Amino acid sequence: MIMFLENIPKAIGMVYAVVALLILAYLFNKDKFNRKIGYVFLVISTMIGFLIFAPMFPYQFQLLVLRDTEKLGAPIPIVLVGFLLFIVLTFVFGRIFCGYICPIGAIQELGYIIPVKKFKIKNKKATMVFRGVFTAGLIVAGLFFSVGLLNFTGVNYFFNLNISSIFFYVFPALLIVGTFVYRPFCRFLCPYGVFLSLASTKGLFKLRRNDKCIDCKKCEKACPTNEAGRDDLKQECYMCNRCRDACPVNAIDHSRKG
Ligand code: SF4
Ligand code: SF4
Repeated sequence: MIMFLENIPKAIGMVYAVVALLILAYLFNKDKFNRKIGYVFLVISTMIGFLIFAPMFPYQFQLLVLRDTEKLGAPIPIVLVGFLLFIVLTFVFGRIFCGYICPIGAIQELGYIIPVKKFKIKNKKATMVFRGVFTAGLIVAGLFFSVGLLNFTGVNYFFNLNISSIFFYVFPALLIVGTFVYRPFCRFLCPYGVFLSLASTKGLFKLRRNDKCIDCKKCEKACPTNEAGRDDLKQECYMCNRCRDACPVNAIDHSRKG
């Protein structure tokens, strides 16, 4: 009973995630989204992360690997359904979960607003390979040595305000890096991001150019992850909307192919 009550906030986090994702998908699709609306969701998601540590799928992925059912707070099949649900929603609508709902992504996105010099990583494959290798290491370390590699990033200590742990201070350091380089945690370390990236590659609805495009390439210059090219697969598109804001002729829609 106590465990059930303890887990109610996490369930609220899940409900928030689904509702927020559907609202944002609707706004993107109807061309009613703007960055101000995005900031509102980013702030709410960050606060929810601090208050109830949910929806934290990257960390839950690690708990799953560690088979830590107590901290997972739900039977493994239910957690797997949650995992799968957001992978499917990402396949349909793009990485809106990463863009605005995951507290880890949200706080990095807010940090990137700080006006300092930005450094763009040109080789997006390198970041994805690094993330894949890290995720493989996380799985091996969890399955065979019962070690949670993600703990070394401090993400759980940070959102739980556990300042007594030395690892608490690692995540703020990542956030500082994230003011210069777009979303270092998501692009180099997130194990759940590996799956969402794959889902988004073959996704149904994506930010696609329409016939109005005049090939000025302003969207490509504005994109922090090099995903705004006409033929880019959008696997590392975090739906930040910078490309649409930069486009002078409103030539980018959230649409299906053709
Ligand atoms: S890539 Fe991972 S950490 Fe980043 S927003 Fe997505 S789920 Fe969250
Ligand atoms: S600027 Fe890049 S990451 Fe942002 S929405 Fe456009 S394609 Fe996606």
